[in-house]
Amino acid sequence: MIRQYELVEKIKSYDPDADEDMLNRAYVFAMKAHGAQKRASGDPYFSHPVEVAYKLTQYKLDTASIVTALLHDTVEDTEVTLDDIEASFGKEIRNLVDGVTKLSRLEGKSENLNQAENFRKLLIAMSEDLRVLLVKLADRLHNMETLKFIKSPEKRQRIARETVEIYAALAERIGMRNLKDELQDLAFAELYPEARESVIKRLNFLREQGAAELEKTVSVIRQKLAEAGLPAAQIYGREKKPFSIWKKMESKNMEFEQLSDICGLRIVVANIAECYQALGVIHAEWHTIPGRFKDYISTPKSNGYQSLHTAVLGPGQQRVEIQIRTQEMDEIAEYGLAAHWAYKQASHAIKDGKQFRWIRELLDILEKSSNPEEFLENTKLEMYHDQVFCFTPKGDILAFPRGATPVDFAYAVHSGVGDTCVGAKINGRIVPLRTKLKNGDQVDIITSKTQTPSPSWERFVVTGKAKSEVRKYVRTSQRNEYVNLGRAILAKTFKQEGEEFVESMVEPHLPTFNKKTVEDVLAEVGEGLISRQQVMEVVLGQKKPVQASGSGLLSSLSKPFRKKKESGTSAPMPIKGLIPGMAIHFAGCCHPIPGDRIVGIVTTGKGITIHTMDCETLENYSDAPERWIDVAWERDQSDATHVGRIHAHVSHEPAALATVTQVIAKEMGNISNFKIINRSIDFFEILIDIQVRDLKHLNNIIANLRAKEVVQSVERWQT
Ligand code: MN
Repeated sequence: MIRQYELVEKIKSYDPDADEDMLNRAYVFAMKAHGAQKRASGDPYFSHPVEVAYKLTQYKLDTASIVTALLHDTVEDTEVTLDDIEASFGKEIRNLVDGVTKLSRLEGKSENLNQAENFRKLLIAMSEDLRVLLVKLADRLHNMETLKFIKSPEKRQRIARETVEIYAALAERIGMRNLKDELQDLAFAELYPEARESVIKRLNFLREQGAAELEKTVSVIRQKLAEAGLPAAQIYGREKKPFSIWKKMESKNMEFEQLSDICGLRIVVANIAECYQALGVIHAEWHTIPGRFKDYISTPKSNGYQSLHTAVLGPGQQRVEIQIRTQEMDEIAEYGLAAHWAYKQASHAIKDGKQFRWIRELLDILEKSSNPEEFLENTKLEMYHDQVFCFTPKGDILAFPRGATPVDFAYAVHSGVGDTCVGAKINGRIVPLRTKLKNGDQVDIITSKTQTPSPSWERFVVTGKAKSEVRKYVRTSQRNEYVNLGRAILAKTFKQEGEEFVESMVEPHLPTFNKKTVEDVLAEVGEGLISRQQVMEVVLGQKKPVQASGSGLLSSLSKPFRKKKESGTSAPMPIKGLIPGMAIHFAGCCHPIPGDRIVGIVTTGKGITIHTMDCETLENYSDAPERWIDVAWERDQSDATHVGRIHAHVSHEPAALATVTQVIAKEMGNISNFKIINRSIDFFEILIDIQVRDLKHLNNIIANLRAKEVVQSVERWQT
C-alpha cells in the first residue's frame, strides 16, 4: 500500500502549493473511518481509496480531487456523514464527495443496453464538477483491477459490461484515452478472455515479424527529420490495443489476417510549426495514401484531441500510419481533460480554484469543434442542464425537462398510471405530487383505481404529454358533469311545473338551440349558457315564469332564506357525484360545509356555485330567480374536504396559539389556512380555515375551542 508521505510527495512534485495539511488529514480520516473493513481481496478496505488517490496523481490533479479520492467511500460505506466531511474539509470537498457518493449509488442500474446512453447522460448531468467524474473513473479503474476477487461470475460480468458501455465511453468522451484503454482491456479480459488471448498472440506474432521492418522505417524517418533540422523529434511505434482491434474485427467483419495496420508510428516534436515541417518531410519522401490525411491541429476533435494523421507507403513499400503532434498534444491525447487542466495550472495562467472551471474548459474545447455532427454531440452536454434523469423502481431511466413533477413521471410511464395516480414516493419517501424531480431520484407512483386526474394538476405539470392528458380528461369529464347537471336542472324545473322532463322532448327543437345533440343542449344548460326558462318555453311551447327552485323563497328578500322553508313540489337536487372545481364550486364568501342549508346559483360558463342559505351574497341574485337551484348535500360525506372558516379571539400569552391548533388537531380538523387579523397586547384576532367533514364536525371543534381558557370567543365566520 502507498504510504502517506509517498502520496504527499508525489503530489508536491507537480504541485508545490498543494495543501499538505489537508492531504494528511484526509489520509488519516479515511483510514480511521474504514477501520477494520476489508476488500473482497482480503486487503484492508483503506488500501482502495489510497490507490484511487494515487491514480489521480498520474493526472496531476489538484488537492481537492485527491482528498475527495481518499474520502470517496466514507459516506457510502462508513458512519461518516457529509456534515462530518464539511466540518473537517469544507464545502468544496463536501460537494465533491457528495457527487461521487451519488454516482456510486447509481452503479448497477444500467442492466439494459438501451439504458447505457441515458445513463451516460445522467452521469454527466450529475457530476456538475467534472472532478467528480474523474474520481469516479479512477475508482472504477481500481475496482476493475481487483475484479477477480469478486466471487460471483454474474456480478463480475455485469461490472465489466457496465465498464465498457459507460465508463470507458465516458473516459473517451472527455478525451482520457489512456484511462479508456485500461478500462476496456480489463473488461475485455473478463468478458471475452479467449478472444483477448488470441488477439494478443496474433499481435505478438505480427510484432516479431514486423519488428525489423519497423526499426528500419523508424531510423530512415529519424535521419530524414534530422536532415531537415528536426534532430530532437521523438519517434516511436504505437500498437493498437487488443480491445480496439477486436472491436474493429467485429464491426467490419474482418479476419485477423486482413489486419495489417496494427502498428503505427508517432512523431513528437517541439511545437506546431515543427509538426507541419515534419509532415512536409514525410510527404516529400514517400507516397501518401489518399484519403488518410487529417489535420486535427487546425480542427481539433470535440474532446480536445489534436494531431496530424497521415499514411504513406514507407521505405519497404509497406503501409505506415503516422501521427505527428507536440508533447502537449500527446499528453492531452492520453490524459484528456486532466492534462489540459494540468497544463494551464502549470503555466499558472489560471489558478482560481473555481469549481466550475472544469465545465468551462470542457465547453471551451467543445466550442472549437467544427462539423455539425460533433457540434450536436457537444451541445448535448449543455442540454443536460435543462434535464433531469430519474429512475423507475425497476431501474429504467426516464428523462424530463427540469421542473417536472411526479405527475409528469406518471404520465411518462403510461397514461393509465397518470390518470390513476394518487401519490408518489421519491427515494422511498412520500412527497406531494407537485414536488420537483431531481437528478437520480427514484420515483415510485402510487395509484388507485378509483382516482381520476385533478384539474389542478394542469397548473404544475411541465411535460406536453401530461398537460394534454390532464386537459383531455378535464375537458371530457367537465362536459359530462355539465350534461348531468343540465339534466338534473331540467328535471327539477319541469317537475315544478307539473311536467316530466324526457330528453326526447328536446330532440325536435335542436335547430332552435343550434345544437347537434340533446347532450349538447344539456351541457349548455349545466354550464349556464342556455337558461332553463328558455328550454321550458321552447319545449312546452308556452311562456311560464320560472320560479326559484325553493318555491316562494324569493317572495321577499334575504331574510326569509334563513327560515326553514321546504319546496313542496320537488326534492332538492343532490350534488352527489359532482366534482368540486368542475361543474360545482363552493362559494368563497360563506364556505358552505355539509350540514349547512345550501342553495345553488347558476353561474354562466361555470356551472353552479353553492352558497349557504343565509349568505348575504345571495341578495345580488334576488332579481334572477331562474338562476336559483335547490340543492342538497349527498348523504355519506366521510372525507374532511370542505373548508369551514372560524373567527376567534385568543389571549396573547405563551402557547395560546399552540393550544388552539392542538384542539383542532385532536378533533381531526386539518388547518388549511391561518391568518392573524389583529394583534394587541391582550389578544390575537385570528381566522382559521379548517378542512372538516361537515357542520357537526366544525361545531364540535368550535365547542372544544370554547372550552379553553385562552379562547376568549370563537364563532363560525361567514361574510
Ligand atoms: Mn470506491
